[in-house]
Amino acid sequence: MKAGTYKVKAKGHGSSFMPMEVTLSDNAIQRIRVDASGETSGIADEVFKRLPAKIVKGQTLNVDTVAGATISSRGVVDGVAEAITLAGGDATEWKQRAKPEAATQAAQVEEYQTDVVVVGALWRRGHKPVEPMGYAFIHVLGDWVTEYGATILTETRAENLLMENSRVVGVVAHKTDGTKVTVRAKSVFLTAGGFGANTPMVQKYNTYWKHIDDDIATTNSPAITGDGISLGQEAGAELTGELFTGLQTPPENFIMVNQEGKRFVNEFAERDTLAAATIAQGGLFYLIADDKIKETAYNTTQESIDAQVEAGTLFKADTLSELAGKVGMDPATLEDTINKYNSYVDAGHDPEFGKSAFHLKCEVAPFYATPRKPAIHHTMGGLAIDEYGHVLDKAGQVIAGLYSAGENAGGLHAGNRLGGNSLADIFTFGRLAADTAAQENG
Ligand SMILES: Cc1cc2nc3c(=O)[nH]c(=O)nc-3n(C[C@H](O)[C@H](O)[C@H](O)COP(=O)(O)OP(=O)(O)OC[C@H]3O[C@@H](n4cnc5c(N)ncnc54)[C@H](O)[C@@H]3O)c2cc1C
Repeated sequence: MKAGTYKVKAKGHGSSFMPMEVTLSDNAIQRIRVDASGETSGIADEVFKRLPAKIVKGQTLNVDTVAGATISSRGVVDGVAEAITLAGGDATEWKQRAKPEAATQAAQVEEYQTDVVVVGALWRRGHKPVEPMGYAFIHVLGDWVTEYGATILTETRAENLLMENSRVVGVVAHKTDGTKVTVRAKSVFLTAGGFGANTPMVQKYNTYWKHIDDDIATTNSPAITGDGISLGQEAGAELTGELFTGLQTPPENFIMVNQEGKRFVNEFAERDTLAAATIAQGGLFYLIADDKIKETAYNTTQESIDAQVEAGTLFKADTLSELAGKVGMDPATLEDTINKYNSYVDAGHDPEFGKSAFHLKCEVAPFYATPRKPAIHHTMGGLAIDEYGHVLDKAGQVIAGLYSAGENAGGLHAGNRLGGNSLADIFTFGRLAADTAAQENG
């Protein structure tokens, strides 16, 4: 390799790009600096702390991604690979090298004794309360528990419950380096989220949709695999509610059209209505926007939009007719759809599908079309709990020592969760369950 410091840009989470500086000698990676100021902080911080150190120490790009921050992790690895390529090195060879030693060290054991163990914790999401993606919640809660003496174990997967005389008394977990962690506690909280990233589990419990594709995507983190539900079942818990909502509601002025270029639903309908209407059209639909509507999209930037256009995942054209051609629609049909839609915006009323929330016409070039399919957004099924946050068994009896809240618990949102209601759910029921446990177990 040609020694030097190489400046590259790596893909970050969502729409961001991270500038990186990679210093190489003729045969080694000497230093990696990531400018993550454009990234949302929180768990991604762990990526920028741990991964460069792991790569430099191990002199390999065959490093495990940081759980829950896969995209940022891959961004760092790809950025270093790009620098190696620029220096004339063989990035593929660096990616095929052995994993760093730490990851393959002999397993160790850690044990904790505590009042409370919480499996799982809020993952970053949400509209934009103070910080993007709801990070502010995580900072505030994380700082608070740490200040009050809590130990936070990341990259540690709870795998079993400890039971004694029908009472749940702790959790057994493993860290990604193989360390076995045993936590004995007076109260065990299952708050490991839903099972949106576990398609076989969704298919198993689905009673709402006629069919769920094996390759259905999720808007959720890949770590949301229903572990908390399986853990509860180990203790004999009952499950309740089995449905999931597809499709997040598109921002108000976006227009949904089918593969023929025709609208087929009120874009502001409930999530399950949108998903059902889309599935009835064959699954694939397009979100159409003009230059002004595009600006109302959440969590994106022009840089990201341009990258998607270049990657062929977003289509852009100077006229609607050209746009239709790019996505294989009849130009006249798409133009007719948009002309009618614009007249509904003028009239403030949509006689076809009853859309009432819109104020922008689709008329300012360039125009955009994004292909979309319904994805699993939120699973409403989970552990049966009572109004105090106790997990209930199949006979409706409280399982001693076990509490649950959030998406891990089921039945709170019936068949269709309203957007924005989950954060209210988790803060209300999490607190309630904590109060219950404090009264019962100290
Ligand atoms: C893209 C997106 C946007 C959203 N936007 C909003 C919004 O704007 N408003 C709103 O109200 N709701 C929103 N939601 C829904 C809401 O964020 C979630 O329903 C809510 O975060 C659930 O919180 P929770 O604490 O129950 O679980 P989660 O936040 O899912 O956290 C569960 C945690 O448990 C961890 N975990 C899983 N298994 C294990 C295990 N075995 N051991 C240890 N840890 C484990 C996971 O890694 C994760 O950190 C959104 C959801 C998504 C996917």
